[in-house]
Amino acid sequence: MAEGRASVGPDVSTHGRPAVLGAGGAEMGEPMRGLGVSPGVVLAPVAWLGEPVRPPADEPPARDVEVALQEVRAALDAVASDLAARAGAASGAAKDVLSATAAIARDPALVDSVRTRLEGGAGPGRALDEAFGGFASLLAAAGGYLAERVSDLYDVRDRALAVLLGVPMPGVPETDGPVVLVASDLSPADTAGLDPTRIVGLVTSGGGPTSHTAILAKSLGIPAVVACPDAWRLNEGEIVLLDGGTGLVTRQPDKAAATRAAQRASIWRGLVTTTSGPGRSADGHPVRLLVNLATMTDIEHAVALDCEGVGLFRTEFLFLDRPDAPTEEEQQRTYTRLLRAFTDRSVTVRTLDAGADKPLPFLAHGDEPNPALGMRGLRLARRHPDLLDTQLAALARAATTGPTRLRVMAPMVATAEEARDFIDRARAHGLDEAGVMVEIPAAALRAEQICAEVDFLSIGTNDLSQYTFAADRMTGELAGLLDPWQPALLDLIAAVGLAGGRSGTPVGVCGEAAGDPLLACALVGLGVTSLSMAPGVLPIVRAALSRHGLATCQAMAIAARAASTPTAARAAALELAHPDLVAALQA
Ligand code: PEP
Ligand code: MG
Repeated sequence: MAEGRASVGPDVSTHGRPAVLGAGGAEMGEPMRGLGVSPGVVLAPVAWLGEPVRPPADEPPARDVEVALQEVRAALDAVASDLAARAGAASGAAKDVLSATAAIARDPALVDSVRTRLEGGAGPGRALDEAFGGFASLLAAAGGYLAERVSDLYDVRDRALAVLLGVPMPGVPETDGPVVLVASDLSPADTAGLDPTRIVGLVTSGGGPTSHTAILAKSLGIPAVVACPDAWRLNEGEIVLLDGGTGLVTRQPDKAAATRAAQRASIWRGLVTTTSGPGRSADGHPVRLLVNLATMTDIEHAVALDCEGVGLFRTEFLFLDRPDAPTEEEQQRTYTRLLRAFTDRSVTVRTLDAGADKPLPFLAHGDEPNPALGMRGLRLARRHPDLLDTQLAALARAATTGPTRLRVMAPMVATAEEARDFIDRARAHGLDEAGVMVEIPAAALRAEQICAEVDFLSIGTNDLSQYTFAADRMTGELAGLLDPWQPALLDLIAAVGLAGGRSGTPVGVCGEAAGDPLLACALVGLGVTSLSMAPGVLPIVRAALSRHGLATCQAMAIAARAASTPTAARAAALELAHPDLVAALQA
């Protein structure tokens, strides 16, 4: 489930934390610092995500096979009973999944396989681990539905290992009340079912501003701090004050700090509940406020949102985890549902952004030493033009079924020539509003030439940061370079905004930067005309914008660009911000 997650702290065997806190009295009052990636303030007890469990590397062979087998059986039984009890309390799909998973834990073939391994000289942990590994390979080789069950198998393995070894259960813990979830990092599987009424804050030591945790937290509206290297100091159950705007995490805050936090939360609520409707600055300058969507469920939830449409519909989910490409009809059905959900609003669909970093099982991607720099995004269409054409044809057909304004855009465009080629293809399919994403510094530097080819630009700040700073967006250690307040990133956005303004080409931002309420104002000052973000942060961005005139936004942009560090850039913009926003954002 969570292979590949970085572990933190000095002692992995205690789940990334020392068993006893070091002599750090002074550290108690000092807030920990990380990157605030989803704004909001919460006060709640800590609950640790159970780390993945592995058998001990130095586990000796079982002394008595029958005794060891009995222990493994008991662990599997305990897991099966727990899962069955949870299935009994659940309904719908969750009930089915939990029941099926409980049945895995009761499979006698597993116990037979464990016995063989124990007799072969393995200890109980390794025997259990290897038995599951053998079954997982069989399922994976079978493909299709069976291959999809491999993650369920691993889930049972991890739980049974935890019981066997007497360590905490992996995954999101069951809790009685609201908690701040703390982890080294969160995998998509960990976050799939997060309940925002129970998990009211997130802190990770790894991750970056564009990591999975950040994107998910924003979309659920859960305040979050990532890249917080001291997170391992946090103890289960201790109260923390988390500020997802400033990135500060205060342990056991005193009464005064807790009161200030409550006041800030109430100012925040006041801001978001008194503003609604289309985005505009205090002096009426319109800025379209849009949402980013990436799944069918997102579409269902977004219909009721107070927003002006979709600024980024990521289409990868239609292509990933399947043995063949979706047909034109299949795609058309999804796009039609999307367009119907947003009648009278606009929808911007991004064509497939896959590559060796997000591989498609039905395409041979080849070995690329640097997948992020390889055949990714629009470049994939050089090798597989049919893939892009089918997608554009499906979009064009969906567009004829209703009045929604459809815009299409291509990811990973580097040159004006690539932009022209994409626009020509889109037009050939009858798609008359077409644009490109600016995610590569070369495209930002030549924005003027690209503007001459397209109907609009959308800046993908996540990738633009990664390529500008040569810093992998998934590497938590490099998160500081990926801070969207980096003045060099702002310089590139300014170049695009200027080119857009001169040519009358709309320029949006659809990377995570658009969801930071203060930065959103500075982006408007840089010439950005629309902002597309996770639904959870749109209300505070709208409120922030409504408190500032265009001239203030421009002054913020100038001040931020004049700074030499991201922290100074943010501070310079904050100095010019409306007192309400300052009160909501500042610790
Ligand atoms: C971006 O790069 O900013 C972007 C919006 O695209 P993605 O995060 O899907 O790469
Ligand atoms: Mg991108």
